Amino acid sequence: MSRTLLITGASRGIGRATALLAARRGWAVGVNYRSDRAAAMAVVEQIVQAGGRALALQGDVSSEAELLAVFDGVAALGPLDGLVVNAGIVAQPLPLLEMSAYRLQRMFDVNVLGSYLTAREGARRMARSRGGRGGAMVLVSSVAASLGAPFEYVDYAGAKGALDVLTRGLAKELGGEGVRVNAVRPGLIDTEIHASGGQPDRAARLGQGTPLGRAGRAEEVAEAILWLLDDAASYTTGALLDVAGGR
Ligand code: NAP
Repeated sequence: MSRTLLITGASRGIGRATALLAARRGWAVGVNYRSDRAAAMAVVEQIVQAGGRALALQGDVSSEAELLAVFDGVAALGPLDGLVVNAGIVAQPLPLLEMSAYRLQRMFDVNVLGSYLTAREGARRMARSRGGRGGAMVLVSSVAASLGAPFEYVDYAGAKGALDVLTRGLAKELGGEGVRVNAVRPGLIDTEIHASGGQPDRAARLGQGTPLGRAGRAEEVAEAILWLLDDAASYTTGALLDVAGGR
């Protein structure tokens, strides 16, 4: 019987690559998205055509009601065994002194509140004391949490720092519940998130200056996430795994 995985923000980028790889490894996959239904459906169709099981699940992670509906929806695939807390946003590059309260609110609503709520709901379903089967959770943080992202995204970097702390604390809360909690911290990965922040060439441009001399691919992050989800990582919890080409 296949295991069930929910991935937030899986209509494109790292979430999409993780969904496709997870399906190839035998997971049934809940493909959450916020706005791009066609893209989410394309991910589902690719999985189903290859013989896998998947569902597209709309919901903004910063809305508790929408998120609960997403978790209700994924139950159609089976009890939850894995969760990837991946949905995240950036904004236009700015120093803090130029950032509006509206921008800061949205950044923390999606990247912090949304991630905490997602992790909480995953914990409620996988914890053995709540009737769950145990499982694994991977939070998608960023090396920005260590670098600070000055003059671009100190708000985003702070939000990802919160996810690093959540990873360490929640791993301790859930160790006795049969649930492992880890984070990957990508560096410059070539996805559309950079265009959404107004810098479509950011990953390619800055990737050249990293030790490996290039931007990373979403599939390279997905490999790390799948390892952390798998029983191969059975003694790994509370870890922050940088997938950043040495950045
Ligand atoms: P992306 O290509 O922009 O994809 C973002 C995904 O998240 C999309 O599926 C989008 O769905 C979804 N999403 C956005 N806001 C959402 C919300 N409020 N509720 C639910 N879904 C939402 O981003 P990515 O580069 O793959 O990034 C994925 C994660 O990796 C993020 O947490 C990001 O911070 C992190 N990360 C990325 C990089 C990088 O260089 N790419 C580096 C470090 C960390 P819709 O399109 O339907 O809105």
